[in-house]
Amino acid sequence: MIDLSLTENHKAVQSLVREFCAREIAPVIGDHDRTATAIPDLIPKMANADILGACIPTEYGGSGMDYVAFGLACEEAEYVDTSARVILSVHTGLVSLPILTWGTNEQKKRLLPELVAARRIGAFGLTEPNAGSDVVGIRATADREGGGYRLNGEKMWISLADLADTFLVFAWTDRIRMEKRDHSGMSAFIVERSMPGVSTGTIKGKLGIRAGNTGSIVLQNVFVPNENILGDVGEGFKIAMFCLDQGRFTVAAGCAGLTRACLDACLKYCGSRRTFGRAIGEHQLVKEMLARMVAGWEVSRLLWLRAAWLKNAGQPNTRETSLAKWIAAETAERAAANAVQVHGAYGYSDEYPVERFFRNARGSSIYEGTREMHILIQADYVLGLRRDHPVRARLPEVAS
Ligand SMILES: Cc1cc2nc3c(=O)[nH]c(=O)nc-3n(C[C@H](O)[C@H](O)[C@H](O)COP(=O)(O)OP(=O)(O)OC[C@H]3O[C@@H](n4cnc5c(N)ncnc54)[C@H](O)[C@@H]3O)c2cc1C
Repeated sequence: MIDLSLTENHKAVQSLVREFCAREIAPVIGDHDRTATAIPDLIPKMANADILGACIPTEYGGSGMDYVAFGLACEEAEYVDTSARVILSVHTGLVSLPILTWGTNEQKKRLLPELVAARRIGAFGLTEPNAGSDVVGIRATADREGGGYRLNGEKMWISLADLADTFLVFAWTDRIRMEKRDHSGMSAFIVERSMPGVSTGTIKGKLGIRAGNTGSIVLQNVFVPNENILGDVGEGFKIAMFCLDQGRFTVAAGCAGLTRACLDACLKYCGSRRTFGRAIGEHQLVKEMLARMVAGWEVSRLLWLRAAWLKNAGQPNTRETSLAKWIAAETAERAAANAVQVHGAYGYSDEYPVERFFRNARGSSIYEGTREMHILIQADYVLGLRRDHPVRARLPEVAS
């Protein structure tokens, strides 16, 4: 039977991240969002507080906890700002966990302690200027040369691009397969910023997540040695899909936190604003918006918890993770739109956080698979057109 109660360890992670975000992020996030600047040293501070390695085994410097702990950390981070959750999604979910799962012993020993301690910051480079949803449409190439591969290509919309040291990048190692759109010709590489030919840039003018860095990676004749290939040559697509199963999970849990943040902001405002001789929370139509927020939060929490439970058990979870991400993202978008509504004109200015929540929420139905991609995934499963692929591994040490 699934036990939905949180253990003392889970509650400890929840309080740790909640207190950290309230102390380090909440007081300054408004200014950083307004000026579109990242909070200085936030990632090392998260590492010092033992947040980045919550679900990484202790032998690599992590806390050796499970996916429920990871989800709770994401919920609490996005409760304060999406940019904080993105750090967990990318650095931990899309880079550290794939290295833990697909890396050689040497790669794990070399990279994971560095990532957990934020001596290196990780970024995930799949999307390109002309290929996002269509992963097989990427054009980055990796040509065999000596003891490694020569990489060329451009990655776009990469979270933490300008802050990262270590990039998990996908490229074609077989050009014939690339032309045939046969994904078995794609491979995954660990690219270091220090490698000649690597450069990055920042995208300006984003709608939301303004305190988070998003940018591009350019790879110009970058030589990557064989020891930096993740998994086997030709396994890149499978690894990318594994990564997305982790990233989507973090977005689902984060969106549950964002919906809860919208609810809490509205409850506060409802108590102070009066119209027609009553607190606005006493009007039935306002109550309905609050009721939908609380229902949405609970549904999102249950969906990501189920995905966490499957992941902890080492069971296939692509469908469940996708469902959690789709529904939690739509729910957060609706909650944020209604949170602006509850605040009336004041919700339309940055005097209240709901304006930021509204802009931040919009991205979650775009990244980690657009809303349409998740609808297609669900439809394909129900039509029997898609089946689960075997799970590569579960977390080696799971403490809950
Ligand atoms: C803030 C932010 C952070 C990001 N961070 C990262 C990152 O760290 N790493 C990374 O690799 N990427 C990242 N991305 C990129 C993100 O994953 C892509 O934007 C996403 O996959 C969608 O790709 P696209 O933008 O190229 O849209 P497209 O794929 O061009 O899609 C455009 C529209 O067409 C629809 N569409 C496309 N194909 C179909 C179809 N077959 N059927 C129905 N509808 C379809 C889509 O749903 C969408 O509505 C980030 C994006 C954002 C906004």
